[in-house]
Amino acid sequence: MTATYTEMQSLVPALQPRFSYGRGLRLIREDGVEFLDAVSGTFNLPLGYDDPRVVEAVIDQLRRCAHVSSSYSAPYAQAVLDALLELAPDNLGSGWMRDLTGSTANECAIKIAQKSTGKSDVLSLHLSHHGQTVFTTAISGNAFRRSAFPATRSAMSIKVPAPYCYRCPLQSSYPGCGFACVESIADTLEYAGNGSVACMIIEPVLGNGGNIVPPPGYFDALSQFCRERDILLIADEVQTGIGRTGSMFACETFDIRPNLMTLAKGLGGIGIPVAAVLMEERLDVLEKYDHSFTSGGNMLAIAAARATIEVAGHPLFLANVRRSGLALESLLRSLPEQFRCIGDVRGVGLMWGLEIVGQDNAPAPELAARIISIAESRHHLILRGSRFGFGNVVKVRPALIATPDDLDELVARLALAIRDAENEQAAA
Ligand code: PMP
Repeated sequence: MTATYTEMQSLVPALQPRFSYGRGLRLIREDGVEFLDAVSGTFNLPLGYDDPRVVEAVIDQLRRCAHVSSSYSAPYAQAVLDALLELAPDNLGSGWMRDLTGSTANECAIKIAQKSTGKSDVLSLHLSHHGQTVFTTAISGNAFRRSAFPATRSAMSIKVPAPYCYRCPLQSSYPGCGFACVESIADTLEYAGNGSVACMIIEPVLGNGGNIVPPPGYFDALSQFCRERDILLIADEVQTGIGRTGSMFACETFDIRPNLMTLAKGLGGIGIPVAAVLMEERLDVLEKYDHSFTSGGNMLAIAAARATIEVAGHPLFLANVRRSGLALESLLRSLPEQFRCIGDVRGVGLMWGLEIVGQDNAPAPELAARIISIAESRHHLILRGSRFGFGNVVKVRPALIATPDDLDELVARLALAIRDAENEQAAA
């Protein structure tokens, strides 16, 4: 029996720590105790809590002005977009920067797809998460977030199986499956569609869905499927963008050429809210009045993004992320030898997840929640769990500035938490 989300929440300690400041990967509690943050805030601090280059850029801008109307900020926003486009797949040539959040950036990309094609429907994956606005909740592949909100039951959303090889939804196995999950989309469109699919939105690594990394060849098969049907492909890089997978964008890591790409979270470097949409030039169809928010592309957000791209987009910085990623991978891959509750270790770059299982590899969400809780309260290590799917994935995604010592310490504390949780379970 798996616990409900509410039951799992009751396992989280009632007293949350109160932090007074952050330094690098660490949060310092009001009484001076340091916590190591293994998940970079809300997966949105590639440069840690206090990167001086971003801090200075934002303070400098704040002294000048926090905001000018979007027509005046446009040239500064364009400079950020140009810097992003320089590093993005070369088919992308335009951008839009009038959003602060990943949710509305995804809505922006979908509006572009709908307006440019004249079609309506949005394909997405089971277990996906694309945001919390009404429409992005509607297209995300998890029913529990929609249940209380009738407006999220959109007729324009079609959801199809995710490439979750560890528990293949089609009971097949890679590579013999021939990408049955992609093939099955044709039947879904034939029998459940209405002939008007504008786009498909995907996360290169399904983040909230359990850190699911698609197998080699998946994106080739999916891209071909979309191309053959004139379905625009949107890469939601809200979690994977800005160096997380070892390249500036996961599209480079996985060799995807999307028609549109969305960014948020890490784009602000140290947690400054900012988002952007990149697209092929032919898709540059929006008027300002189509999609623009008062604080979207404000001057502080632009200053943070500019500084972040300068730091995180540097080839040496990214080479270091790849090195750190390999070091973290080998540390995490050694854990299943010590702990039988780890069923799968999967990830890329500095984006990892441990799937926690019980007897016969059954998902063990209570144990995953206990590991996270013990890690925080006893070992001062901050982890996050997967709220979706089976809810049994412990995520490890430190800031990209992690040193080899940070990674050793992180995995050592994680191992202590897993040991404690397993012992506790054995004693119960
Ligand atoms: N897309 C993905 C892949 C996400 O992980 C998230 C947030 N967790 C969003 C979109 C929504 O971003 P935001 O919370 O900034 O609206």
